[in-house]
Amino acid sequence: MACERALLRYRVGEKIHGFTVSQVTSVPELSLTAVKLSHDSTGAQHLHLAREDRNNLFSVQFRTTPMDSSGAPHVLEHTVLCGSQRYPCRDPFFKMLNRSLSTFMNAFTASDYTLYPFSTQNPKDFRNLLSVYLDAAFFPCLRELDFWQEGWRLEHEDPNDPQTPLVFKGVVFNEMKGAFTDNERMFSQHVQSHLLPDHTYSVVSGGDPLCIPDLTWEQLRQFHATHYHPSNARFFTYGNFPLEQHLKQIHEEALSKFQRIKPHTTVPAQKPWDKPREFQITCAPDSLAAGSSEQTTISVSFLLPDITDTFEAFTLSLLSSLLISGPNSPFYKALIESGLGTDFSPDVGYNGCTREAYFSVGLQGIAEKDIQTVQDLVDRTLDDIIEKGFEDDRIEALLHKIEIQMKHQSVSFGLALTSYVASCWNHDGDPVELLKLGSQVAQFRKCLEENPKFLQEKVKQYFKNNQHKLTLSMKPDDKYSEKQMQLEAEKLKQKVNSLSPEDKQQIYEKGLELQAQQSQPQDASCLPALKVSDIEPRIPFTEVEVALAAGDIPVQYCTQPTNGVVYFRAFSSLNTLPEELRPYVPLFCNVLTKLGCGALDYRELAQQVDLKTGGLAATPHVLPDDSHLDTYEQGVLFSSFCLDRNLPDMMHLWSEIFNNPCFEAEEHFRVLVKMTAQELSNGVPDAGHLYASIRAGRMLAPAGDLQETFGGMDQVRLMKRIAEMTDIKPILRKLPHIRKHLLNCDNFRCSVNATPQQMSQVENSVDNFLRTLSRSKKERKPAHPHVVEKPAPKGPGRHSPFTRKLVTDPTFKPCPLKTHFQLPFPVNYVAECIRTAPYAAPAHASLKILARLMTAKFLHTEIREKGGAYGGGARLSYGGIFTLYSYRDPHSTETLQSFLKAIDWAKSGRFTQQDINEAKLSVFAAVDAPVAPSDKGLDCFLYGLSDEAKQAHREQLFAVSHEDLVDVSNRYLGAGRSTHGMALLGPDNESIAKDPSWIVR
Ligand SMILES: [Zn+2]
Repeated sequence: MACERALLRYRVGEKIHGFTVSQVTSVPELSLTAVKLSHDSTGAQHLHLAREDRNNLFSVQFRTTPMDSSGAPHVLEHTVLCGSQRYPCRDPFFKMLNRSLSTFMNAFTASDYTLYPFSTQNPKDFRNLLSVYLDAAFFPCLRELDFWQEGWRLEHEDPNDPQTPLVFKGVVFNEMKGAFTDNERMFSQHVQSHLLPDHTYSVVSGGDPLCIPDLTWEQLRQFHATHYHPSNARFFTYGNFPLEQHLKQIHEEALSKFQRIKPHTTVPAQKPWDKPREFQITCAPDSLAAGSSEQTTISVSFLLPDITDTFEAFTLSLLSSLLISGPNSPFYKALIESGLGTDFSPDVGYNGCTREAYFSVGLQGIAEKDIQTVQDLVDRTLDDIIEKGFEDDRIEALLHKIEIQMKHQSVSFGLALTSYVASCWNHDGDPVELLKLGSQVAQFRKCLEENPKFLQEKVKQYFKNNQHKLTLSMKPDDKYSEKQMQLEAEKLKQKVNSLSPEDKQQIYEKGLELQAQQSQPQDASCLPALKVSDIEPRIPFTEVEVALAAGDIPVQYCTQPTNGVVYFRAFSSLNTLPEELRPYVPLFCNVLTKLGCGALDYRELAQQVDLKTGGLAATPHVLPDDSHLDTYEQGVLFSSFCLDRNLPDMMHLWSEIFNNPCFEAEEHFRVLVKMTAQELSNGVPDAGHLYASIRAGRMLAPAGDLQETFGGMDQVRLMKRIAEMTDIKPILRKLPHIRKHLLNCDNFRCSVNATPQQMSQVENSVDNFLRTLSRSKKERKPAHPHVVEKPAPKGPGRHSPFTRKLVTDPTFKPCPLKTHFQLPFPVNYVAECIRTAPYAAPAHASLKILARLMTAKFLHTEIREKGGAYGGGARLSYGGIFTLYSYRDPHSTETLQSFLKAIDWAKSGRFTQQDINEAKLSVFAAVDAPVAPSDKGLDCFLYGLSDEAKQAHREQLFAVSHEDLVDVSNRYLGAGRSTHGMALLGPDNESIAKDPSWIVR
């Protein structure tokens, strides 16, 4: 095992490739060994976490502490990825996406650091990516044109026409304009900058759109020289690859070329206030709300101690959870259940991403007149806690949660760990202390035993008696967007007016130069690459067994090293559900495990769920068939997990939920509805491209309409409408009707992932649960007349196949619908969907490679580089819908033109074998993404997809040729070949308003 090897192998004081080992620590609770080192000549720090996990991760982190809002760290994060000394080609980062089997590649700008992580399961790939990352971070070209493209620039609206007006362009500029339309994000930003006003936290590290045009290329280069230096760097490696190799490469390719400097990046301690402060800000009205009367947000925040005090930080983060998490917490009772607002204010609870942590609590969606009431409620609640303390059971539930989180293995554990330690380590805290969760829990228990008032005293000290307290409120202003636009126009005018005729000529020429550069054929041959032959030809098969329980209910068993956790899932069909109840299924799922059941009211149920499980959830699913576009399965997936010892308790809870669900608690139902509606509408700006895609695909296959009903803009609007109803009973009364069709075992199947030792107990518990379920006395008629029975895949160990009941529509005719959702965003989200071929068809494999090829070789350039959108591309869904999309896009109809051009490009076959190989690598990186033990066998359970079918698909992917790609482009994508649907989320649009083929909603 990697962790044991590391523990035996390294000694403190040992020198390895220019580094000296300073600490070796075993962290058994996370099954890893931590090795800390520092680099002798530069002082760079390194943390290696050896763990038996193939998904190895690297990251390098720089402390970046800007003192203005021009966005230098963010623009730098983008520009260093535009080419470096050893890899001078444009955009090596995006190109590596196609030359690697990475499982993750990204870069983040936080408030006070910038992080560059990647992960991969392939050792050669790791070395390649490490080389590219090191060169990008330490030796970037930072060309002026890169700065123009990624940061900001003045350019003619049409760069070819000097008569068109000059406007601001640039990727970060547009990205931040998009980000600033997110009211929650704006609010969080202001809490941080007002609460920590003395240093770097008072500015926007990502850049304020109005300040970004003050950043110069020279300032950017200066920022790089002073911040991206080994002496200001922290390296992190994770997984089962040997550490020596990493150190050697980091030393040779980067660190050996530097001398130590003294970086001036330390964040000083915030001076505590002697009295509380209050601020008010304004925002744009909620685009989806009916009126603006109840759209005020207010929160109260308290400054907490330095996060490098790890035990105090651990205690305060636990305390914060006790204060705000779940319906049993005092702030939920006092604020959420007061009915004054729709949901907690943004960033509620403990925030540990700044040098001093802080705690925030408040409400959004309140009337302006209630600001004072909320403040009073916060104060009163704190007084109450100081007097009464917390129930022991809630503390136990919280500690149980930590235990189960440590055992539950995610596939991106390395990434989770690097993010977890980043902030504390950034301020020179000890990252290893932070990982020792077991000893922190033990110390916490000891403190509680020694002093029963331990937590109450903390509340008194850090909340009640804390003068460093900020009250921030935000209310909508109808003129907000107009004012922002005006400010931007003024900024533009000021910039343009200061230009000499020579400057203008230069801007025009640079615009042309940039355009020419973007249109040049690109040579990426300097970059390292894996070959298609480096891809595993075969997938490892997952053994699953299916047996019948409680008579005739199929249960899939998958034996896995789950670390003492049992994962239980069940799927129930929606085939008999009447059409008119369908839109309420997501709401039903959302509240089912939260309203109480049997003898438990909703508070007691929440308590039991926290105490005995890792969570119970129900989610609606539309599962397309692998071989017919017009066929799909519809149902609800119930999922849950628990520690081995709690399985009987968890199954008992499911049994109570299925047999005695409670749909009475009207007030609590209203609270849940409001919170759901608020979350949905807050999420639209982040997921606009997904909403546009769902809508554009709505009339292309029978499953599309149901996908829109369950998860599209229709669902968002329905939830907003329900949240605004004065009488919610008629909605509540629909739930028992849905229950009758769903919570029985008429058309039901289960799956379990657990360790082999646990399986026989699991069989018993599941069998007991299933025997409690009701069955319909006579068979219900399906609401949909065309049901197709499909046997689940056979295979070794699968002796009792079962059938899935899919629905189909033989009369379905796809329809080319175009919808514009008019929303007051400053950017657009565009999607065009095309009906193509199902998973099992060879054309599907070709289209999958083609989507990747079009993204990397055409759409990325057109939509992001030239168009200035934050993102764009093509993808193919499992259900055979081919989607072209853009994200945070300044354009709309022009982007639809680019989609057309992309299709013409594909049809013309103007791409090379190298391009195809790259697209294959990138598709396989996704196909071979690691699967956690909890999720093994899930495709088989849900989609009836066998490993044999996946292997066949894999072979089709390998076989895709240039000819196949041109052929599917012609056959499926060209106009008049297949049906296309389009959708746009974005502001008023003149040309679309004039076009009668568009429906505006
Ligand atoms: Zn960015």
